[in-house]
Amino acid sequence: MSVRTLAVLGATGSVGEAALAVARRHPDRLAVSLLAAGGTRPVRLLELAREFRPRRIVVATAAAAEAIRAELPAGAELRWGEPALVDAVGAGGIDLVLTAIVGAAGLRPAAAALAAGADLALANKEAMVAAGPLLRRLAADSEAKILPVDSEHAAIHQALRAGRRREVRRLVLTASGGPFLDRDPATLDTVTPAEATAHPTWNMGAKISVDSATLMNKGLELIEASYLFDVPGSRIDILIHPQSLVHSIVEFRDGNSIAQISANDMEYPIRYALSHPERWPRPDDGAASGLSGLLEATSELQFRKVAPEAFPAPSLAREALVRGNGAPAALNAANETAVAAFLDGAASFTAIVPAVAEVLDRHDREAGGTEPATVDEALEWDSWGRRQAREVLAQLRG
Ligand code: NAD
Ligand code: MG
Repeated sequence: MSVRTLAVLGATGSVGEAALAVARRHPDRLAVSLLAAGGTRPVRLLELAREFRPRRIVVATAAAAEAIRAELPAGAELRWGEPALVDAVGAGGIDLVLTAIVGAAGLRPAAAALAAGADLALANKEAMVAAGPLLRRLAADSEAKILPVDSEHAAIHQALRAGRRREVRRLVLTASGGPFLDRDPATLDTVTPAEATAHPTWNMGAKISVDSATLMNKGLELIEASYLFDVPGSRIDILIHPQSLVHSIVEFRDGNSIAQISANDMEYPIRYALSHPERWPRPDDGAASGLSGLLEATSELQFRKVAPEAFPAPSLAREALVRGNGAPAALNAANETAVAAFLDGAASFTAIVPAVAEVLDRHDREAGGTEPATVDEALEWDSWGRRQAREVLAQLRG
């Protein structure tokens, strides 16, 4: 059995911690060689550094580096800033990079990992949305793999193993529907960040929790799935499934569909990505985690269509995907900006999706757009989307 070296980017976050829990259980297969985090949780980062003894630690800012420097275990190299992270990821000697940074901020490190030939376990869907075709090209050039960690995409990745690509009729992404699935849309403008981040079935970081509440998360995932699996948006559907047990479905042309089921715990898709193409045993936690236990504990599995009037975000994402030419990067950037404004108390919950829609309209009317051929070009669309969104949000306020 070989041990692979692993970098975890976004180590102190929800997915990062779950990835390290998998690494902790499989020390004979994974050796953590790099930990990267923003640095807002210095105490936790130091604990992880002492536990996993990575060769390198990278944080986002100089201040974050100073906050932990004195207490780092001996022998660990500490650096800060995006160039240092790109450098560390691209330096070689890393087999597998799990990226769970939030937002398009994860794009450069993801591209650097693939360019260096490291396999990429991708949770950071925003990087794929901003520059999917480019990341796939980098992977093809270096023969690296992109292994989806997002639970829906890990489900599709598994289901696709049941047939050939040309036999796929459509992909069905399941969605929990978030905390406001059955709420009267007219009551949503007073929603607080605490309400919006209280997800019914998953425990996640703040940004993706808000995305789940607007269903923009499913829109981003639709773009992510199209780029990852090379299936056009017109053959990707979304189905609300409040129990979050069926993580997605692939329908083949002969009418047979393969669905993937597991508990709603990110360790399942993470273990799948980190062990691929093998399947490592999970620790025995009794029958409850197996299929029969899960289904016995669930009185029913429900599925229904998304109501586009109540949740327009997936249609916007679909439109951006068709439009291409920087529209997905701009949509993602506008969404990140609007969600951050909402979490800061500077925008209402109901401003988020209309702000993104307006930025997408401007992309069509004013910018036209060209397909980003480099990371820099994708990030130009990202900056453009952020600028437009700030303007639109100011207008909505004023
Ligand atoms: P989180 O907020 O819990 O954690 C984010 C992590 O990234 C933190 O460690 C933070 O310090 C780090 N970080 C932020 N900016 C950084 C930067 N510039 N440089 C280095 N590190 C930085 O977020 P999360 O919920 O774990 O989500 C992470 C990513 O995974 C997102 O793209 C999200 O959409 C995706 N994802 C999350 C889940 C989930 O269950 N939480 C599921 C599927 C996909
Ligand atoms: Mg998901």
